[in-house]
Amino acid sequence: MDPRVLGAVSMPVFQSSTFEYTGEIGYNSIRYIRLNNTPNHIVLNRKLSEIENAEAAMVTSSGMAAITTSLLTILSKGDHLLAQNSLYGGTFDFITKDLSQYGIEYDLIDGDSPDSWESMLKPNTKAVYVESITNPLMQVCDLKSVVRFAKDKKIISLIDNTFTSPVNFKPLDIGFDLSLHSCTKYLNGHNDIVAGAVCGKAEMIEKISHKLGHLGGTLDPHTCFLLQRGMKTLALRMRYQNESALEIAEFLRKRKEIETVNYPGLTSNKYYKRASELFSGFGGMISFEIKGGEPSAEKFIKKLTLPIYAPSLGGVETLIIIPSKTSHAGLSESEKKAQGISSGLIRLSVGIENTRDLIEDIDQALSRL
Ligand SMILES: *Cc1c(COP(=O)(O)O)cnc(C)c1O
Repeated sequence: MDPRVLGAVSMPVFQSSTFEYTGEIGYNSIRYIRLNNTPNHIVLNRKLSEIENAEAAMVTSSGMAAITTSLLTILSKGDHLLAQNSLYGGTFDFITKDLSQYGIEYDLIDGDSPDSWESMLKPNTKAVYVESITNPLMQVCDLKSVVRFAKDKKIISLIDNTFTSPVNFKPLDIGFDLSLHSCTKYLNGHNDIVAGAVCGKAEMIEKISHKLGHLGGTLDPHTCFLLQRGMKTLALRMRYQNESALEIAEFLRKRKEIETVNYPGLTSNKYYKRASELFSGFGGMISFEIKGGEPSAEKFIKKLTLPIYAPSLGGVETLIIIPSKTSHAGLSESEKKAQGISSGLIRLSVGIENTRDLIEDIDQALSRL
């Protein structure tokens, strides 16, 4: 499949649900949008596998489609999963509330305590699931130990690499079996589509792709086109967002109105050493607490002019939220407390606006609290 179709510099959109039969063998080879094999899928899947250093990759209709389809391919009735105790809300809910319907058990592990993982292992443990940087506290789990543990115990290792993006981290390079993405975030980067991806060994991707054909979480060709276009600027955006977020985190850390700043790129951060070893940049996500808790947080956000008070992340527009009210509203008070998510915690997704402008805006909002 030549990506330069008839010499076109941009990949055209093949808006055709079905294609003429040319002797394809087997159901999964029939060319049909749901089977993830139109020209737009083929070119995009190859691009995704290249940037993750994967044998193969496949795009899905959302990050959640990538996550649920992968887990339901790997896990069967009677299996057991080990999952990091602080995960993206949708993933956490799927693992803790839905998997039991399929007869699949789970236990939650502390990403910082590799010594405790062995005791959670069961004869039926099939896989371990973690995130590269957790939301909203920006924790970096001991990822090298996760890989070592999985290889040692012969279980499959999965990582959600959304927060780092393949520019800052390529999990397959350190031995993870599957790297998953919400392409809604950095990969597309423009806050205008929802998409996901799974990257790994060809054999495993093929199995997940067949499951996707059954569950139906396929991306449509026009959105494939948009994602491919967004990805053209991924490296530039990431580099800028890494730099901008670091500057903003350093600015926040020095302010008297701020209680704590969570950003793995700060030398004072608990995860700095680990993150510097693993990642080539620390990403655009910061969380912090302002003195005075939730009322101050609300007041601060209202006084900002540039960041938009909206969920989601990783795009060119700077977005800000209070996780306990939005992304993590589904957790009970005790779950939030256990994960360390206070009611006044603010999460900032740094976009590509001028860094000086963002800092000036934050500065004026803090000064008027
Ligand atoms: C947003 C997100 C998801 C879910 O992705 P969707 O594209 O919204 O389905 C999964 N994991 C992480 C870390 C996310 O930020």
